[in-house]
Amino acid sequence: MASIFTKIIDGNIPSYKIAEDDACYAFLDINPAAKGHTLVIPKKETDYLFNLEPDELSGLTLFAQKVACGIDRALQPIRTGLIVEGMEVPHAHIHLIPIYKPSQNFSLGKKTDLDENQMKELARRIREEVRL
Ligand code: AMP
Repeated sequence: MASIFTKIIDGNIPSYKIAEDDACYAFLDINPAAKGHTLVIPKKETDYLFNLEPDELSGLTLFAQKVACGIDRALQPIRTGLIVEGMEVPHAHIHLIPIYKPSQNFSLGKKTDLDENQMKELARRIREEVRL
């Protein structure tokens, strides 16, 4: 059965899309640890990130860099951090989490309440600044 993230890539489940290329897809996390928290995933469905082929992992990482630079330009955090955990959804993903203050709790889990319009607007702003 397709993972929830494959369903998102295929357009069968909606997402706040940020960017896409042949091999990768980025969208907002629906339980944001911070404003602009973004997930970057390979289109190839693999549970464990480090089971990707080396060229797939490097392609995903370079794609994540472009998305993170877009987040930085759009939202101006101090910087954007990266977490890989993957215990909930069995489809490899990189969390990109903007850090707005040094004391920010830099861990996963919903810490920011954003309504649908705010999520749409955040996605739009980041999308505009991502240069693939
Ligand atoms: P983890 O597998 O623990 O690294 O985290 C999975 C992440 O996927 C969580 O932060 C969830 O909030 C996020 N998530 C789950 N379903 C969706 C969805 N439909 N759209 C966006 N994010 C999702």
